[in-house]
Amino acid sequence: MRKKIVAGNWKMNHDLAQTEMFLVDLKKQVLPEEVTVMIAPAFTNLNHAFNSLREHPVTVAAQNMHQNNNGAFTGEVSAEMLKSLGVETVIIGHSERRAQFNETNEILSEKVKTAIANKMTVIFCVGEELEERKQNNHLKLIESQLTEGVFQQPETAWKNIVIAYEPVWAIGTGETATPQQAQEMHQHIRTVIANKYSKSTANDVSILYGGSVKPNNASEIFNQPDVDGGLIGGASLEVESFMKIVNAF
Ligand code: PEP
Repeated sequence: MRKKIVAGNWKMNHDLAQTEMFLVDLKKQVLPEEVTVMIAPAFTNLNHAFNSLREHPVTVAAQNMHQNNNGAFTGEVSAEMLKSLGVETVIIGHSERRAQFNETNEILSEKVKTAIANKMTVIFCVGEELEERKQNNHLKLIESQLTEGVFQQPETAWKNIVIAYEPVWAIGTGETATPQQAQEMHQHIRTVIANKYSKSTANDVSILYGGSVKPNNASEIFNQPDVDGGLIGGASLEVESFMKIVNAF
């Protein structure tokens, strides 16, 4: 069943004290029952956030993980390590990881495989650069990111896969895709998944939009028929703006 999801990607923001302040405030909020609310703090704060939210219906997710379960990978964190904290959701393929940490579709496919093998939920990010959109290549590009990154998975894995469409030109820029642009791409993603797997799998997958979602634009984007929520960067760092987005459906 398709879920409504609002996930906050904190990136490299909020230290332990700031995380605690956020959590104290978040726990006072009334959350809509029909929305799955997630936050993705830095690795260093996952343990604290997970324990603090034990009694609360908020999912704690990681922003990344390594494709290997253990070994000589200095500075990396594995799926098993995340699971040992209780963290069972991971963002894979964020455009910042693709661009700044050279994460190719091939590496991302390995990460997805490891996460699924560890029974984790994957939020798999796809998105085009502005140049690709200008050249009208965006639909094809997203299809190839899906094909190379997640289509190695069997159909049964899709109950644990969420797609986040995040046009790179809209991330952290204040520029958002129009609701029509978001809808066009989300519908395309669903069609591509239906062609590879089945209509019912395509219909059941949650597809989030990300890219400068703010309290003042969340509603019109979330109202699109193929948009099931958002992956939120900047506006997820304060409880007030995050909650306005959580309540924007
Ligand atoms: C993101 O990092 O996933 C994101 C969408 O960032 P922002 O909302 O700040 O554009």
